[in-house]
Amino acid sequence: MVIGAIEAGGTKFVCGLGNEDGVISERISIPTTTPEETMAEVVSFFKDKGIEALGVGSFGPVDLEQLSATYGFITSTPKPHWAQFDLVGELKKYFDVPIGFDTDVNAAALGESLWGAAAGLDSCLYMTVGTGIGVGALVEGKLIHGLTHPEMGHIMVRRHGDDTYAGRCPYHGDCLEGLAAGPAIEERWGKKGIELKESPEVWEMEAHYLAQAIANYILILSPKKVIVGGGVMKQDQLFPLVRGKVKEILGGYVQSGQILEDIDEYIVPPGLGDNAGLAGALGLVKSL
Ligand code: ADP
Ligand code: ZN
Repeated sequence: MVIGAIEAGGTKFVCGLGNEDGVISERISIPTTTPEETMAEVVSFFKDKGIEALGVGSFGPVDLEQLSATYGFITSTPKPHWAQFDLVGELKKYFDVPIGFDTDVNAAALGESLWGAAAGLDSCLYMTVGTGIGVGALVEGKLIHGLTHPEMGHIMVRRHGDDTYAGRCPYHGDCLEGLAAGPAIEERWGKKGIELKESPEVWEMEAHYLAQAIANYILILSPKKVIVGGGVMKQDQLFPLVRGKVKEILGGYVQSGQILEDIDEYIVPPGLGDNAGLAGALGLVKSL
């Protein structure tokens, strides 16, 4: 089966072709400008490819309620031009095929559970720490939705004692995303994350925030694997720092060997690398 996959991000739309085994045969990246421009390129990529289904993992918030009048819309995003954009509706105009739709991070969690670091598990969490912070979750074999969908990047965390930075979430100021996403690191320290590799205090503070969030997710959802990706995690010294702090915060309370003995295999980078989101979009088609 030829499946089209779209990872719709605030910076770029990654489009690809693949099959139901998660094998990606072709991919392109289109800058996210205006819906008109970006969607014209998306449509032109897929139009002669004979796709039989389409899977879309999108930045959000998105409306995932099938019966809603705005199902398939990107809803209240602060990203200029994209609020209330009917993403699925626009694709339906050109492609008369079944379309699977979910958040980018739910798609990535699904991809990792089918073919990546959580293969064979019925539960995992996928967190991205990039321009924003987003988290998708698979629990008992199902991607979590609810009233809308979880927004675990915007939880409140205790401040680091040395942190005087106000935070930059347009909705909450110093929520997790406001304090720990890539743009917050850049604004707090006056340099891009990539230029701060040799400044241990930056990563110690970053790990302080990420570890609290992950400890909370573990306490609430009890995921069988925690996968952390996104541009900021390219600083791979963060992994041991985060693992150590998660253990410290949990204080031995969660009685699982995964945490107490094998945390290096429990909190991990994406097994699918940068293809987690796109492969996950292929996976969204499986449940149609
Ligand atoms: P997006 O979230 O837009 O899909 P990314 O996951 O690449 O994209 O995240 C971009 C953010 O990650 C930017 O804030 C950037 O500064 C930061 N970033 C990218 N690469 C690195 C790196 N090697 N080290 C630290 N921060 C990085
Ligand atoms: Zn927020």
